[in-house]
Amino acid sequence: MTGSFYPPQRTLMGPGPSDVPARVLGALARPTLGHLDPLFVGLMDEIKALLQYAFKTRNELTLPVSAPGSAGMEACFVNLLAPGDTVIVCANGVFGGRMKENVERCGATAVMVEDAWGQPVSLDKVQAAFADHPEASVLAFVHAETSTGVRSDAAALCALAREHGALSIVDTVTSLGGIELDVDGWGADAVYSGTQKCLSCVPGISPVTFSPRAVERINAREHKVQSWFLDMQLVMGYWGGNTKRAYHHTAPVNALYALHESLVMLREEGLETAWARHARNHAALVAGLEAMGLSMAVAAEHRLPQLNAVNIPEGVDDAAVRSALLNEFDLEIGAGLGALAGKTWRIGLMGHSSRERNVITLLAALESVLGRQGAPITHGDALPAAQAVLAG
Ligand SMILES: *Cc1c(COP(=O)(O)O)cnc(C)c1O
Repeated sequence: MTGSFYPPQRTLMGPGPSDVPARVLGALARPTLGHLDPLFVGLMDEIKALLQYAFKTRNELTLPVSAPGSAGMEACFVNLLAPGDTVIVCANGVFGGRMKENVERCGATAVMVEDAWGQPVSLDKVQAAFADHPEASVLAFVHAETSTGVRSDAAALCALAREHGALSIVDTVTSLGGIELDVDGWGADAVYSGTQKCLSCVPGISPVTFSPRAVERINAREHKVQSWFLDMQLVMGYWGGNTKRAYHHTAPVNALYALHESLVMLREEGLETAWARHARNHAALVAGLEAMGLSMAVAAEHRLPQLNAVNIPEGVDDAAVRSALLNEFDLEIGAGLGALAGKTWRIGLMGHSSRERNVITLLAALESVLGRQGAPITHGDALPAAQAVLAG
């Protein structure tokens, strides 16, 4: 007979999910309301306002899609694209590849702008792609590439899209709450994110926001959106502010309590303060890793503070190190993905996981595990180096 499931308390320092604070887990356990209960409808309005704060936008069409980040991605593509459209898709890691899949499944053509894994999206290449394809109606790119730990210049890319009369679709799954994100300032058009990365909420919800230009395009559609569930015109019947709310699907009521709580926590801390915390803990981690003799996989100017790609030293058993961290220290870090499998570790410092104690714990645990593997590292220098940054 099977009984209840009691997971251990892990420290989540991989590519997401990140540690969920007790306050957010507590919110999840509050009494379930009906999804059309007036009290719940009031909460929906608050969630929308908090998401507008987090995204830095006044976009009316801002809401949490009731499904993970991948569904937010799909929602942006299926609502903005019609068969026959041309989309410039930037790929410098795993998630750009998924965007291509979405474009093609919409019956549109993806013009790929490829950059090496570990490099940001090249503005020159995007410029050239627009010159070759003036018919392109959308530019799609990933702001924070979680597979490699690279940040691309979202402001410049959104500006390029506008210059060429195209809408932008921007993946901010890993950036929301962790690094500067300014939807209105950038003039971004369709932006999606996730709850389990720098918001430190439970997985399974995808905040999205659409600019007035994007809404215009959606309203002018000739073809029905291929996905019934993700059709924003239908979803708006439930989430829309001034219309009478109608049943579309049963909202994940308790998960939305959790999202609300995590957004309240973000607003209490302040967006800019949260970004600065991510930057400080990242600097401490890098100082510690380098003092140990390890090297970072991404050039300093392109690094994401919330996702640190570290080169695995020669002769070290990647999987053995990760299992030792998990089994002995209850500490999860991420493996390399795709082209970087076996070559890098991905150490997440996202949201609630971006804390001084996590930086220190990880450095101490990694030094211990690598020492026992006989890896050529320097002992005893990592913690003082990290502490010097945290004290400074
Ligand atoms: C995690 C992630 C996604 C997918 O989100 P899910 O919630 O796993 O569906 C998409 N894009 C990026 C950049 C991500 O890091």
